[in-house]
Amino acid sequence: MSTILIVEDEVRIASFIAKGLKAAGFTSESTASGEEAALLATHGEFDLIILDVGLPDIDGFEVLERIRGQGVTAPVIMLTARSSVTDRVAGLEGGADDYMPKPFSFEELLARIRVRLRSEPAQGIYQEPGGTSLSHNGLVLDFLTRRAQVDGQWVDLSAREFTLAEMFLRHPQQVLSREQLLSAVWGIDFDPGSNVVDVYVSYLRNKLGKERFETVRGMGYRLR
Ligand code: CA
Repeated sequence: MSTILIVEDEVRIASFIAKGLKAAGFTSESTASGEEAALLATHGEFDLIILDVGLPDIDGFEVLERIRGQGVTAPVIMLTARSSVTDRVAGLEGGADDYMPKPFSFEELLARIRVRLRSEPAQGIYQEPGGTSLSHNGLVLDFLTRRAQVDGQWVDLSAREFTLAEMFLRHPQQVLSREQLLSAVWGIDFDPGSNVVDVYVSYLRNKLGKERFETVRGMGYRLR
Protein backbone atom coordinates (compact mmCIF):
# COMPACT_ATOMS: atom_id res chain seq x y z
CA MET A 1 0.00 0.00 0.00
CA SER A 2 1.34 3.44 -0.90
CA THR A 3 1.65 6.19 1.68
CA ILE A 4 1.15 9.75 0.58
CA LEU A 5 2.15 12.97 2.34
CA ILE A 6 -0.41 15.77 1.97
CA VAL A 7 0.97 19.27 2.51
CA GLU A 8 -1.96 21.67 2.47
CA ASP A 9 -2.94 24.42 4.92
CA GLU A 10 -6.59 24.62 3.89
CA VAL A 11 -8.23 22.12 6.23
CA ARG A 12 -11.16 21.55 3.91
CA ILE A 13 -8.97 20.65 0.95
CA ALA A 14 -6.57 18.53 3.03
CA SER A 15 -9.43 16.47 4.45
CA PHE A 16 -11.10 16.13 1.04
CA ILE A 17 -7.86 14.71 -0.36
CA ALA A 18 -7.25 12.45 2.67
CA LYS A 19 -10.78 11.02 2.48
CA GLY A 20 -10.48 10.39 -1.24
CA LEU A 21 -7.11 8.69 -0.84
CA LYS A 22 -8.43 6.48 1.92
CA ALA A 23 -11.36 5.42 -0.25
CA ALA A 24 -8.90 4.66 -3.07
CA GLY A 25 -6.86 2.41 -0.79
CA PHE A 26 -3.96 4.71 0.10
CA THR A 27 -2.73 5.74 3.52
CA SER A 28 -1.83 9.36 4.07
CA GLU A 29 -0.42 11.81 6.54
CA SER A 30 -1.21 15.53 6.46
CA THR A 31 0.52 18.70 7.54
CA ALA A 32 -0.31 22.38 7.08
CA SER A 33 3.27 23.55 7.65
CA GLY A 34 6.01 23.76 5.05
CA GLU A 35 8.73 23.41 7.68
CA GLU A 36 7.11 20.27 9.08
CA ALA A 37 6.56 18.91 5.57
CA ALA A 38 10.26 19.23 4.76
CA LEU A 39 11.13 17.30 7.94
CA LEU A 40 8.47 14.62 7.41
CA ALA A 41 9.42 14.10 3.78
CA THR A 42 13.09 13.81 4.61
CA HIS A 43 12.67 11.41 7.52
CA GLY A 44 9.53 9.51 6.54
CA GLU A 45 8.88 6.87 3.94
CA PHE A 46 6.43 8.43 1.53
CA ASP A 47 5.74 7.10 -1.93
CA LEU A 48 4.43 10.42 -3.18
CA ILE A 49 4.00 13.98 -1.91
CA ILE A 50 1.11 16.32 -2.67
CA LEU A 51 2.46 19.81 -2.08
CA ASP A 52 0.49 23.05 -1.97
CA VAL A 53 2.40 26.14 -3.12
CA GLY A 54 0.83 28.69 -0.74
CA LEU A 55 1.64 27.69 2.84
CA PRO A 56 1.71 29.84 6.00
CA ASP A 57 5.43 29.50 6.70
CA ILE A 58 7.78 28.52 3.87
CA ASP A 59 6.12 28.06 0.47
CA GLY A 60 5.89 24.86 -1.56
CA PHE A 61 8.82 25.80 -3.80
CA GLU A 62 11.07 26.18 -0.76
CA VAL A 63 9.83 22.82 0.62
CA LEU A 64 10.57 21.22 -2.75
CA GLU A 65 14.06 22.69 -2.89
CA ARG A 66 14.85 21.45 0.62
CA ILE A 67 13.59 17.91 0.13
CA ARG A 68 15.25 17.46 -3.29
CA GLY A 69 18.40 18.86 -1.69
CA GLN A 70 18.11 16.14 0.95
CA GLY A 71 17.91 13.48 -1.73
CA VAL A 72 14.17 12.75 -1.47
CA THR A 73 13.21 11.27 -4.86
CA ALA A 74 9.51 10.55 -4.19
CA PRO A 75 7.32 12.08 -6.91
CA VAL A 76 5.87 15.48 -6.01
CA ILE A 77 2.57 16.79 -7.37
CA MET A 78 2.19 20.50 -6.67
CA LEU A 79 -1.19 22.11 -5.99
CA THR A 80 -1.48 25.70 -6.98
CA ALA A 81 -4.17 28.32 -7.32
CA ARG A 82 -1.64 30.28 -9.33
CA SER A 83 -1.62 28.34 -12.57
CA SER A 84 0.67 30.76 -14.36
CA VAL A 85 3.35 29.40 -16.63
CA THR A 86 6.04 31.04 -14.49
CA ASP A 87 4.95 29.09 -11.42
CA ARG A 88 4.83 25.84 -13.30
CA VAL A 89 8.26 26.28 -14.74
CA ALA A 90 9.68 27.24 -11.34
CA GLY A 91 8.23 24.05 -9.87
CA LEU A 92 9.35 21.78 -12.68
CA GLU A 93 12.87 23.09 -12.58
CA GLY A 94 12.81 22.79 -8.80
CA GLY A 95 12.05 19.09 -9.09
CA ALA A 96 8.25 18.78 -9.12
CA ASP A 97 6.85 15.94 -11.21
CA ASP A 98 3.44 17.32 -11.95
CA TYR A 99 1.01 20.16 -11.36
CA MET A 100 -2.60 20.28 -10.30
CA PRO A 101 -4.16 23.73 -10.70
CA LYS A 102 -6.90 24.48 -8.17
CA PRO A 103 -9.79 23.94 -8.26
CA PHE A 104 -9.59 20.28 -9.27
CA SER A 105 -11.72 17.19 -8.93
CA PHE A 106 -10.43 14.33 -6.82
CA GLU A 107 -10.62 12.04 -9.87
CA GLU A 108 -8.18 14.27 -11.74
CA LEU A 109 -5.76 14.24 -8.83
CA LEU A 110 -6.10 10.48 -8.39
CA ALA A 111 -5.36 9.90 -12.08
CA ARG A 112 -2.15 11.88 -11.77
CA ILE A 113 -1.19 10.10 -8.56
CA ARG A 114 -1.63 6.75 -10.27
CA VAL A 115 0.50 7.83 -13.21
CA ARG A 116 3.26 8.95 -10.86
CA LEU A 117 3.09 5.79 -8.77
CA ARG A 118 2.81 3.64 -11.88
CA SER A 119 0.37 1.46 -9.98
CA GLU A 120 -1.42 0.63 -13.19
CA PRO A 121 0.83 -0.67 -15.94
CA ALA A 122 0.39 1.29 -19.16
CA GLN A 123 -1.49 -0.64 -21.78
CA GLY A 124 -0.15 -1.77 -25.10
CA ILE A 125 3.46 -1.23 -24.13
CA TYR A 126 6.04 -3.95 -24.44
CA GLN A 127 7.66 -5.13 -21.22
CA GLU A 128 10.01 -8.00 -20.69
CA PRO A 129 8.59 -11.17 -19.14
CA GLY A 130 7.98 -10.56 -15.46
CA GLY A 131 7.58 -6.86 -16.17
CA THR A 132 10.32 -5.79 -13.79
CA SER A 133 12.82 -4.36 -16.23
CA LEU A 134 13.30 -2.85 -19.67
CA SER A 135 16.54 -3.06 -21.58
CA HIS A 136 18.12 -1.76 -24.75
CA ASN A 137 21.68 -1.91 -25.98
CA GLY A 138 23.40 -2.52 -22.63
CA LEU A 139 21.10 -0.18 -20.71
CA VAL A 140 18.67 -1.76 -18.22
CA LEU A 141 15.97 -0.02 -16.18
CA ASP A 142 14.92 -1.95 -13.11
CA PHE A 143 11.40 -1.12 -11.95
CA LEU A 144 11.77 -2.79 -8.56
CA THR A 145 14.76 -0.75 -7.42
CA ARG A 146 14.04 2.22 -9.75
CA ARG A 147 17.69 2.16 -10.77
CA ALA A 148 19.51 1.82 -14.06
CA GLN A 149 22.29 -0.53 -15.05
CA VAL A 150 24.81 0.44 -17.71
CA ASP A 151 27.03 -2.36 -18.96
CA GLY A 152 26.57 -4.12 -15.61
CA GLN A 153 27.17 -1.04 -13.40
CA TRP A 154 24.34 0.25 -11.22
CA VAL A 155 23.46 3.94 -11.60
CA ASP A 156 21.11 5.91 -9.32
CA LEU A 157 18.51 8.05 -11.03
CA SER A 158 16.13 10.65 -9.61
CA ALA A 159 12.42 9.89 -9.99
CA ARG A 160 12.13 12.11 -13.04
CA GLU A 161 15.32 10.93 -14.65
CA PHE A 162 14.00 7.39 -14.30
CA THR A 163 10.67 8.30 -15.93
CA LEU A 164 12.45 10.09 -18.77
CA ALA A 165 14.78 7.12 -19.32
CA GLU A 166 11.75 4.81 -19.28
CA MET A 167 10.07 6.89 -22.00
CA PHE A 168 13.15 6.47 -24.20
CA LEU A 169 13.41 2.74 -23.54
CA ARG A 170 9.78 2.23 -24.41
CA HIS A 171 10.37 3.96 -27.75
CA PRO A 172 13.83 2.92 -28.91
CA GLN A 173 14.97 4.37 -32.27
CA GLN A 174 11.97 6.71 -32.34
CA VAL A 175 12.41 10.45 -32.37
CA LEU A 176 10.63 11.88 -29.32
CA SER A 177 9.79 15.56 -29.46
CA ARG A 178 10.24 17.90 -26.50
CA GLU A 179 6.44 18.23 -26.40
CA GLN A 180 5.97 14.45 -26.16
CA LEU A 181 8.54 14.22 -23.42
CA LEU A 182 7.09 17.16 -21.49
CA SER A 183 3.66 15.60 -21.65
CA ALA A 184 4.72 12.06 -20.73
CA VAL A 185 7.32 12.85 -18.10
CA TRP A 186 6.21 16.15 -16.59
CA GLY A 187 2.50 15.84 -17.27
CA ILE A 188 2.17 19.20 -18.98
CA ASP A 189 0.60 19.70 -22.36
CA PHE A 190 1.86 23.13 -23.28
CA ASP A 191 5.22 24.62 -24.11
CA PRO A 192 6.47 26.33 -20.96
CA GLY A 193 9.18 28.09 -22.94
CA SER A 194 11.75 26.32 -20.85
CA ASN A 195 14.68 24.04 -21.58
CA VAL A 196 13.75 21.59 -18.82
CA VAL A 197 13.70 18.63 -21.26
CA ASP A 198 17.16 19.46 -22.61
CA VAL A 199 18.49 19.84 -19.08
CA TYR A 200 17.21 16.39 -18.07
CA VAL A 201 18.44 14.75 -21.26
CA SER A 202 21.88 16.13 -20.40
CA TYR A 203 21.58 14.56 -16.92
CA LEU A 204 20.80 11.21 -18.54
CA ARG A 205 23.71 11.57 -20.95
CA ASN A 206 26.05 12.19 -18.04
CA LYS A 207 24.75 9.21 -16.09
CA LEU A 208 23.99 6.68 -18.81
CA GLY A 209 26.31 7.56 -21.66
CA LYS A 210 26.45 10.59 -23.96
CA GLU A 211 26.20 8.61 -27.17
CA ARG A 212 22.90 6.93 -26.23
CA PHE A 213 20.71 10.00 -26.53
CA GLU A 214 20.98 11.48 -29.97
CA THR A 215 19.83 15.02 -30.70
CA VAL A 216 17.72 15.15 -33.86
CA ARG A 217 17.94 18.76 -34.84
CA GLY A 218 14.63 20.59 -34.90
CA MET A 219 12.75 17.42 -33.86
CA GLY A 220 13.82 16.10 -30.50
CA TYR A 221 15.79 13.16 -29.18
CA ARG A 222 16.25 9.52 -30.04
CA LEU A 223 17.60 6.56 -28.07
CA ARG A 224 20.26 4.74 -30.03
CA1 CA B 1 -2.61 27.05 0.61
